[in-house]
Amino acid sequence: MVKTRIAPSPTGYPHVGTAYIGIFSYVWARKNGGKFIVRIEDTDQNRYVEGAEEGILRALKWLGLDYDEGPDVGGPNGPYRQSERLELYRRYAQELLDRGLAYRAFETPEELAAIREELQKQGLGYGYDGRARKIPREEAEARAAAGEPYVIRLKTPETGVTVVHDVLRGNIEFDNREIPDVVLLKSDGFPTYHLAVVVDDHLMEVSDVVRGEDWLVSTPIQKLLYQAFGWDEPKWYHLPLLRAPGGAKLSKRTGHTSIDYYREAGYLPEALVNYLSTMGFSMPDGREIFSMEEMIEAFSWDRVSLGGPVFDEEKLRWMNGKY
Ligand code: GLU
Repeated sequence: MVKTRIAPSPTGYPHVGTAYIGIFSYVWARKNGGKFIVRIEDTDQNRYVEGAEEGILRALKWLGLDYDEGPDVGGPNGPYRQSERLELYRRYAQELLDRGLAYRAFETPEELAAIREELQKQGLGYGYDGRARKIPREEAEARAAAGEPYVIRLKTPETGVTVVHDVLRGNIEFDNREIPDVVLLKSDGFPTYHLAVVVDDHLMEVSDVVRGEDWLVSTPIQKLLYQAFGWDEPKWYHLPLLRAPGGAKLSKRTGHTSIDYYREAGYLPEALVNYLSTMGFSMPDGREIFSMEEMIEAFSWDRVSLGGPVFDEEKLRWMNGKY
């Protein structure tokens, strides 16, 4: 079964970029008679914005991106929330630790800053050199038991390459020397994005991960995590990011990027969905006005172009006028 998801972090207002990714993810699931789920990735306490989750869910509902599961799998409730699943991530981090595929690291923030500076001087772009791998296991366990704060890091391979296969982009090779021993579990017991996303996509049986290309650099790390757990990886699709007319990255500075803005200004959700669907997708007969049902009917990844889609408010206004 094809199962897709959208995994927004509640860090701000509902962004049109989230809706754009959500539409492609949703359409692919529906095209295959599969499932589409929503997972709120709220494990980063520092970036959490009060009310953001409600805003995102309200926007998804308004746009008609209904999801299939919630904490009671199969039920109408939901969505999933990572903050309600913390125990699970700890258990999986512990498993990798027990199997020698991850290790405890005890550096303080100051020590980490010094290591990073040292690496940068050597022209290396990543933040950690794996030095805590050398701490004998019994010693690490004793230090942890004595209450010393630690993180759990993934042991990534030191040589070779990791090849990511993206359905839209083909094979992409990453040099393992550039893949750092990322933190999986932070000292406060919260998982990082990498651990939580892999554990969840696996347990929720997500078969196809559709997301923005800004996550492509994370994919080799996640692939290594799938391998460490002995799980099959999902299919990956990285869509290009929306651009503003002129080519700049879409942001507050380039115009209105909040779905709330369009809702409050009286735009029709069908028009916004239609417009966002044209960001990369084209109908076989070239027509620009079409419904989500019609898109589902005609959809195939061959019809999706990777040339930077331009989100133009003028054009959206025009399209809204057609509804
Ligand atoms: N939580 C990430 C976000 O905010 C999700 C990335 C992903 O889809 O894996 O976009």
